[in-house]
Amino acid sequence: MTEVAHTPRVFSGIKPSGGLTLGNYLGAIKRFVATQGQGMETIYCVVDLHAITVWQDPADLTNATREVAAGYLASGLDPAQSILFNQSQVSAHAELGWILNCVARLGWMNRMTQFKEKAGKNAEKQSLGLYAYPSLMAADILLYHATHVPVGEDQKQHVELTRDIAAKFNHDYKVPEFFPLPEPVIEGPATRVMNLRDGTKKMSKSGESDMERINMTDDADTIAKKFKKARTDPEPLPETYDELSERPEARNLVDIFAALSDTKPEEVLADYAGAGWGQFKPALAELAVSKLAPISVEMARMMNDPAEIDNILGKGADRAMEIATPILHRTYDIVGMIRSRGR
Ligand code: ATP
Ligand code: MG
Repeated sequence: MTEVAHTPRVFSGIKPSGGLTLGNYLGAIKRFVATQGQGMETIYCVVDLHAITVWQDPADLTNATREVAAGYLASGLDPAQSILFNQSQVSAHAELGWILNCVARLGWMNRMTQFKEKAGKNAEKQSLGLYAYPSLMAADILLYHATHVPVGEDQKQHVELTRDIAAKFNHDYKVPEFFPLPEPVIEGPATRVMNLRDGTKKMSKSGESDMERINMTDDADTIAKKFKKARTDPEPLPETYDELSERPEARNLVDIFAALSDTKPEEVLADYAGAGWGQFKPALAELAVSKLAPISVEMARMMNDPAEIDNILGKGADRAMEIATPILHRTYDIVGMIRSRGR
C-alpha cells in the first residue's frame, strides 16, 4: 500500500504554561507569521494538553491559552490564512497520541534532554504526562501530515523523535509513505534566546525569575530595567562574531538585536564594535520596545474581548478537525481498529 506524496504543510505550537517571552516571539511566533502566504498551508496550535504536564491552575490555564492566542494574532497571524486553535478542542490529538505511545520506545524517551532538564533531581515526582509529552507532540505534527515544523533549537530533538516514530509506524504497519518524516525548521539569529541572568540557560516562560526573561507584555520601563540588569561581561563589543564564542551573555544580546532588527549579528557588530554596555543596552531596549509595544497593546485589547478569541479558536478547531479526522480514521484502519459507528 503506497500513499500519495505529501503536500507541504506547516505545523507548530506553543504551550500556555505562562506568559509569552521574547524567546517565544523570536524563536517561534515571528517565524510562524513569516511562513504565511508562502504557498504552504499553516497550522498553529495553543497546546494546552502539553501545558498540564506540569501543574496549571485552571483559571490561569484558561487565561494563558487566550494570551498565547492573542500573542499569535497581535503578531500578525491571520486566521483567514492560517488555522489557529487550541489542541484540546481537537480530540484526535489525544487519540493519535495514545497510538504513538505504543510505537515510541522507552529507550528513545529516556534520551530526551528536555525531560531531564525539566524533571531535574525529582524525576520520580513528575507526571507521566511530562515524560510522554514528546510522543503527544509527534501526534500533533503527524495528525496533519505536516512536513515542516518551525521551532526553536530546544525542540529539535523532539522533531527528530517524531521522525523516528513516524518511520517506525510506517515500517511496522507496512505503510511506507503514510506518515511523512517532518523537517525541523530552525533558522535565523534567535533560535535559542538565552536567559538574561545566565547565558548558559535558555529563556523560558516557566523559568523561576521574571528578571531572566522579557515578557511580550512587559512595559517599556520593565524592558529597559531587565536589559540594564542583564548579566554581561566587562568587555566592549568586538568587531567579529567569532570573538563572542566564549561570551554567551554578550552574544545573546547581539543575537536578540539582530533578530529584532531583521539583520545579521555581523551587521550589528559593524555598527556597535567598540561600544560598551552603557551604549548598547539602552539601544537594545529601545529597539525591543519599538517592536513589542504595538504587539502588547494589541494583545491587551484582544484580552478585553475573550469571547472573540474563543470564537477564533473554535472556528480554527473546526478547520483543523477537517484535516485531522480522515488521517486519524486512516490510522485506526491501518492499526486494525473496528470503526462501525454511524454506518
Ligand atoms: P516552558 O518553559 O513552559 O517550556 P517555553 O518558553 O520553553 O515554555 P514552549 O511552549 O515550550 O515555550 O515552546 C514554544 C516554542 O517557542 C517552541 O518552538 C520553542 O522552541 C520556542 N522557544 C521557547 N523558548 C525559546 C527560546 N529561548 N529561544 C528560541 N525559541 C524558543
Ligand atoms: Mg519549552
